[in-house]
Amino acid sequence: MADLYWTSRAACRATDPDLFFPLTWDGRHQPAMRICSNCAVRPRCLEWALEAGEPDGVWGGTTPAERRRLRQHQG
Ligand code: SF4
Repeated sequence: MADLYWTSRAACRATDPDLFFPLTWDGRHQPAMRICSNCAVRPRCLEWALEAGEPDGVWGGTTPAERRRLRQHQG
């Protein structure tokens, strides 16, 4: 059965959302990436972001450009 409550275990729940939506991608997303690297639900978060086609922000430890590449490889 799908885990519908993965967001309750998200490491970013108590952090500033702005960290995950930087205005530029010149390294300002690194703090969010560090939080994602220690997140218990990172794989599920990335799966969700890919399914949803999330166009912006850090999700599952990936940038929008990285998700676009992953989606291209998924066909
Ligand atoms: S992987 Fe990152 S964006 Fe996704 S729930 Fe965890 S901390 Fe939040």
